[in-house]
Amino acid sequence: MERLQKVMAHAGIASRRGSEKLIKEGRVQVNGKVVTEMGLNVSHADTIAVDGVPITKEEKLYFILNKPRGVISSADDPKGRKTVVDFFSHIDQRIYPVGRLDYDTTGVLLLTNDGELTNQLTHPKYGIEKTYIAKVEGLINKSAISKLEKGLKIDDYKTRPAKARILDIDAKKNKSMVELTIHEGKNHQVKKMLKAVGHPVEKLNRDRYGFLTTEGLQSGEWRELKTFEVNKLK
Ligand code: URA
Repeated sequence: MERLQKVMAHAGIASRRGSEKLIKEGRVQVNGKVVTEMGLNVSHADTIAVDGVPITKEEKLYFILNKPRGVISSADDPKGRKTVVDFFSHIDQRIYPVGRLDYDTTGVLLLTNDGELTNQLTHPKYGIEKTYIAKVEGLINKSAISKLEKGLKIDDYKTRPAKARILDIDAKKNKSMVELTIHEGKNHQVKKMLKAVGHPVEKLNRDRYGFLTTEGLQSGEWRELKTFEVNKLK
């Protein structure tokens, strides 16, 4: 929260003194209401206008979260479970996750209030590359990997070409570790793809989102993206 005249001065409307004058003259509105008293605190969520012309452009925010298990990837949950947005409760602006990770999936999740970038990143055709590491049941073989790569039918949908490789095979435990890189983001896509080749997923982590990884972030930790990272995503 900041004082109205300070926010106006920062926006380049007038000096702080000049802004105070505009307020006194009744020319300033906050959320559609004229404000004449001095010292009102405003946040990024407030719309400020001078002579009816909005001065504030919503500040764009970009965060990367290392999502833990047991957190829902939407802004609110009717069942009252913890959501990824709860990690950012100190922020005035309304941010939301770019795409979704399942309740039990961990790893890289982007959150922003930039709708344009969100659309671009989640576009099914040109969507950003996402790499997942899955622990699956059974001993996966080359034939399954090739099916995952070529594309296969899940529900009524044929998946686009993907990259897949075996990371580890544990014959004793009858489990495998697989890396899968896709551009799409259909609901439960990775789990469905692996199930379709006979290897239900036990654990899933999103390792990379484009060039972004959770490096330096413990589970549940987040950081703001650097400007060059945002530019690289665009
Ligand atoms: N695919 C899935 O099945 N689950 C996720 O959380 C992400 C991709």
